[in-house]
Amino acid sequence: MQLYKNQQIKIYNSLTGKKEPFKSINEGYVGMYVCGPTVYSNVHLGNVRTFMSFDMVFRYLKHLGYKVRYVRNITDAGHLENDADVGEDKITKKARLEEIEPMEIVQRYTVDFHNVINTFNLLPPSIEPTATGHIIEQIELINAIIENGFGYVVNGSVYFDVHKYNETNDYGILSKRKLEDLIHNTRALDGQSDKKNPQDFALWKKAEPTHIMRWPSPWSDGFPGWHLECTAMSTKYLGNQFDIHGGGMDLKFPHHECEIAQNQAALGQSPVNYWMHANMLELNGARMSKSTGNIINPAELLSGKNNIMSKAYNPSVVRFFMMQSAYRSVLDLTDNGLLASEKGFNRLMNAVADIEKLKTANQTNFDIQAWKQSCYDAMNDDFNTPILIANLFEGVNQVNAIKEGSKTITTEDLKTLKDVFNIFVFDILGLKNNQESGAGTEKLSGAVELLIKLRQEARANKDFALSDKIRDELAAVGITLNDSREGTTFTTN
Ligand code: AMP
Ligand code: ZN
Repeated sequence: MQLYKNQQIKIYNSLTGKKEPFKSINEGYVGMYVCGPTVYSNVHLGNVRTFMSFDMVFRYLKHLGYKVRYVRNITDAGHLENDADVGEDKITKKARLEEIEPMEIVQRYTVDFHNVINTFNLLPPSIEPTATGHIIEQIELINAIIENGFGYVVNGSVYFDVHKYNETNDYGILSKRKLEDLIHNTRALDGQSDKKNPQDFALWKKAEPTHIMRWPSPWSDGFPGWHLECTAMSTKYLGNQFDIHGGGMDLKFPHHECEIAQNQAALGQSPVNYWMHANMLELNGARMSKSTGNIINPAELLSGKNNIMSKAYNPSVVRFFMMQSAYRSVLDLTDNGLLASEKGFNRLMNAVADIEKLKTANQTNFDIQAWKQSCYDAMNDDFNTPILIANLFEGVNQVNAIKEGSKTITTEDLKTLKDVFNIFVFDILGLKNNQESGAGTEKLSGAVELLIKLRQEARANKDFALSDKIRDELAAVGITLNDSREGTTFTTN
């Protein structure tokens, strides 16, 4: 029997504002779509937190026996500066500044993204589609939206008619905004005069002569609007209606609101049964964000090379820190928080090691089944990982009591105890038992820094064979060097 038949999950659905019992469209199967990164810069730890939250959801659904198709896209075109409808494409802008091809930018930061999420032990999704790989699907959707009367063409660009849509639908159903309030609060910006109303959003933009990333379409040589790619890719791989759609809280409006409108307008259906939004990671009390520069990169945190933290932290400690907070809560990244998590993580790993050495007796004098179910109950309650961790520490107390002889356990129950730790600590929370201490990490980082220095010297002496050898041999043992204008950093996996 599949576990999901006994373990009823409740999910907080942003669409209804309630925790609802989860029921998938097709029994035993779950379709989940999560908005992926725009690959124009190194991912920061805020991005990592959101993807980690959905990794934990993916892991739990799989553990319950669902066959999950998890689609997480790569945004490699169409995302303009300031998330707006005018301005330069984020990727093209970076390519222009670095004087390289946009696709070189895409490649560089896709590789960085994969390295980083690998370091934090995130599982790969089932499908990782790209926006540029789905231009035809996006053009088809625009055709349908125009045919159904919700899109209009101006000077080779196509816009979504929000006012028309709102006559028969509810624009604001997800973000709980009212169109009247939006009208009141939006200024018509220069360059948006093509639109009938400032609330309308772009489905297709005609490319300026300087815009490199462009495709032919019935309306102009141009590129698709940012919101459209997710509608195209989610419906292509998961169907017109699917179970779960996730992303960071900041994407609720306008991105996800527009996705719903596009689906309704093109396909006549609301696409998603459960909308999930992960909350923000903060640094110094403000949201971590590329645009404000309030960020710390994974490599800086893991190597200890930053001005904020007192030491280097192991990726599993960072993951444990993030899992100690519920995905819907704001989390502030602090040195004290990480230090406390490091202690907790080590205590948990010591207990995991101690289980192997426990002696058994002919009776168990605590209710192990109730404890096991309490771990499931925490996860079933909208993936409440902090409560799960508190319950796991109850288990740690039992392990210590058995070790000291004040409690006993049978052979069979010891196996259950071990299984529960394995399932929740490693399979679901995704921690790794690399009890590499902070000191170990610092030593590693010292050694790699030395190699980076030697490689720089080799390059200065034009000994490129040696410099490449250092890079390649480090890569072979899972250490990737990342060169940039500011110097070389490294990531481990
Ligand atoms: P982007 O590459 O900017 O489109 O962001 C990728 C994902 O990271 C999106 O789901 C964002 O909502 C999420 N994100 C961005 N900043 C943060 C943050 N400070 N905390 C958590 N998630 C974030
Ligand atoms: Zn999206």
